[in-house]
Amino acid sequence: MKLVHEPAELRDVCQEARRQGRTVGVVPTMGALHEGHLSLVDETARVGADFRVVTIFVNPLQFAPGEDLERYPRTLDADLEQCRDRGVDLVFAPAPDAMYPAGFQTHVNTGPLGDVLEGAHREGHFEGVTTVVCKLLSLVGEAKAVFGKKDYQQWRILERMALDLDLPTEIIGHEIVREADGLALSSRNRYLSESERARALGLSRGLAACAEVFTAGERDPRVLSAACRDHVARGADRIDYVEVVDGLTLHAPDASTHLFVALIAAHVGKTRLIDNRELGD
Ligand code: AMP
Repeated sequence: MKLVHEPAELRDVCQEARRQGRTVGVVPTMGALHEGHLSLVDETARVGADFRVVTIFVNPLQFAPGEDLERYPRTLDADLEQCRDRGVDLVFAPAPDAMYPAGFQTHVNTGPLGDVLEGAHREGHFEGVTTVVCKLLSLVGEAKAVFGKKDYQQWRILERMALDLDLPTEIIGHEIVREADGLALSSRNRYLSESERARALGLSRGLAACAEVFTAGERDPRVLSAACRDHVARGADRIDYVEVVDGLTLHAPDASTHLFVALIAAHVGKTRLIDNRELGD
């Protein structure tokens, strides 16, 4: 497995892999890897990539002032070992000034998909995400890129970005990986104390309750989100949002909605958690 720190080298190695007839798969991450990230790596193989790239970069642009940029877990050695064990061919782990050298000033704006939910609660977050992912995907070139539906809105925004900016990338969304008791895996789970972790289960329980009401025939987003919110409120210290929206537009469902999605962001102790569930048609 190759470890690369320089953007130009990432570009060269991916180009060379394609020249040898290989299909590049890429999984952008912020590191502190867990089974959720690794299942995205497996997915690149499942969709036919035989040159597998993981990028590890805690992207300062996507953290607002006061968020957890400084304390975000950085575990590069353990990450590299996990990548090696999982058959990754190349890890790209740049320093911040390799990605944003002096004079850097161009950003990618999101459209209406970025205005709601996370976008309404985390100032500048998605612009930071689209900017770094656009740079990473441009460096990697033609590839299949796998993103987790754990960050549902991010996945939708990146799908749109790749289309709008003609990136040579196929964007693939992968199902959320959960612990046996339902907690969605997250690098931020390591911040949780034992009792906070127990309370964090309110999120996945809320989504399960919401799905039950949906399956029983309910389609009113207010009723659906109320079913979810009840459980979340029992465990969370603060709720940013609990919403049921159209899974494509991420705005209020209407007569044309084919996919309903419930999404949550809530704080448990000092940790902000997100989770979601596709409810169906
Ligand atoms: P992060 O390192 O948190 O920025 O995540 C990197 C990628 O892994 C993103 O595409 C996330 O959506 C994805 N991811 C994180 N946690 C999970 C999970 N529990 N299940 C599936 N994908 C995940």
